[in-house]
Amino acid sequence: MHYGDLVAVYAKLQQTTKRLAKTKIVAEVISSTAAHELPKVILLLQGRVFPSYDERKIGVASKLVMKAIALAAGIAQPKVEQEWSKLGDLGSVAAQVIKGKKQHTLSARDLTVEKVFANIQKLATLSGSGSVDQKVRLVAELLTAATPEEAKYIVRTVLEDLRVGVGEGALRDGIVWAVFGDELQLQYDEKKGDIHPTDRKAYNEKVALVQRAYDLCNDFAEVAAVAKEQGEEGLAKVTMAIGKPMKVMLFQKVNSIMEAFAAVGRPAAFEYKYDGFRIVIHRDGDKVTLYTRRLEDITKQFPEVVQYVKKQINGSRFVLDAEAVGFNKSTGKYLPFQSISQRIRRKYDIDKLAALMPVEVNVFDVLSYGGESYLGRSFVERRKLLEQIVTPHAKKLVLARQLVTDSEREAEEFYQEALRAGEEGVMAKNLEGIYKPGSRVGYGVKVKPVMETLDLAIVAAEWGEGKRAGWLTSYLLACRDPDTGELLEVGRVSTGVKELEESGVNYAQITEILKEQI
Ligand code: AMP
Repeated sequence: MHYGDLVAVYAKLQQTTKRLAKTKIVAEVISSTAAHELPKVILLLQGRVFPSYDERKIGVASKLVMKAIALAAGIAQPKVEQEWSKLGDLGSVAAQVIKGKKQHTLSARDLTVEKVFANIQKLATLSGSGSVDQKVRLVAELLTAATPEEAKYIVRTVLEDLRVGVGEGALRDGIVWAVFGDELQLQYDEKKGDIHPTDRKAYNEKVALVQRAYDLCNDFAEVAAVAKEQGEEGLAKVTMAIGKPMKVMLFQKVNSIMEAFAAVGRPAAFEYKYDGFRIVIHRDGDKVTLYTRRLEDITKQFPEVVQYVKKQINGSRFVLDAEAVGFNKSTGKYLPFQSISQRIRRKYDIDKLAALMPVEVNVFDVLSYGGESYLGRSFVERRKLLEQIVTPHAKKLVLARQLVTDSEREAEEFYQEALRAGEEGVMAKNLEGIYKPGSRVGYGVKVKPVMETLDLAIVAAEWGEGKRAGWLTSYLLACRDPDTGELLEVGRVSTGVKELEESGVNYAQITEILKEQI
């Protein structure tokens, strides 16, 4: 596929903010792309060259891209910088200066999706001395062969900031439209921006099927290929792969024990809501892999947990869901997440830090065991299996503390006990609930006290995706250290701000304020 054809798609996507219009464009691409090229095209549509679970990052800074642009356009770097400060986006700068270039070395039609993909992926593999020059050359090679419009999207992809607004929803539905559109007799009404499946239920079932496959493998490229080549049957067969991260089940919040019973039924299982971090444990023979809820591989950072898993869990093929909590070595008291969070990203002195900041693993679910998926089994059954296979050792690896009750009084006492123990609250779980990865599905809810109000400053922000493209929608917050006056990062938020201006504090407003500070 010519890269130019993909760029034409990007341009179309950028012309609309309507989700269904985008879905239609995505569906057309999926229909018309050859199966062997589909994985790359799907990733590039999302502005990626690696699936979301892949650890590798392109990791190229604006400065390096500026060099590449200067080299490709045959102009001095300060000139590129000047244009950048005027246009505010290096993609547009690349387009502009390449347009002004006298000669094109290669015919632009020579640039293929394959070539762009290969060069950008290669950026992630280079490190060490001389790698900066090599990276500049890889980017410049693409820009030299590119039309101005192509150059714009190459730069944005390299900087991991594509902003054409293809979110998960559009990809998922795009796959459904492309693969099952005829069968469902889908009709897209462009004027009204609406679709008409003749059978809404059948349509929703297909959407759920694609979503399920995605939740299990986290790669739309793979889902699209399976859907296209093997249809419904293939999708239904997609299952979790041991060793490959998948989305975890999330829980909605309620405000009281009474509401918890109302949400999950009675009796219900109550568990401590540990204030740590999610850790999904995969074991395949000798190989143990640990993932966070954001699908990052943190096996190297937690060597002691790997040992606990090998010693305390019976079996050699399984996937378990757990929460790791830090505790104070001398007092044994549990610590809030913040005090051990640095272990997650630590690259050196790992053993030293592990000794200093130990964690206890609280196992609360099993997703797969002995090569069999447990996702469809009831929670009671899953917990029973856990009780059989886990040999608990306090301060190493234990089962989440649990109380099954239908009594509000007992549940309330358990909740207070959790709070006294320094935990965040309790989780209430439906005894018959299955394990459904991904969304907040309602097989469980969390109960925790309302927090106090904090006065924080935004110190960094990220561009939104999908229909939020063009706005800064996720904010890194900091508080001020009263002693040093330094700003200390405390977390990230993106909830509470509205999309529509009339609804209150909105993204456009905040973007306006922050833009000046970029
Ligand atoms: P929140 O982060 O407030 O949405 O709460 C959900 C998180 O609580 C999950 O992602 C887990 O990391 C964590 N958690 C702590 N204890 C449990 C438990 N017993 N069962 C399920 N999740 C738990």
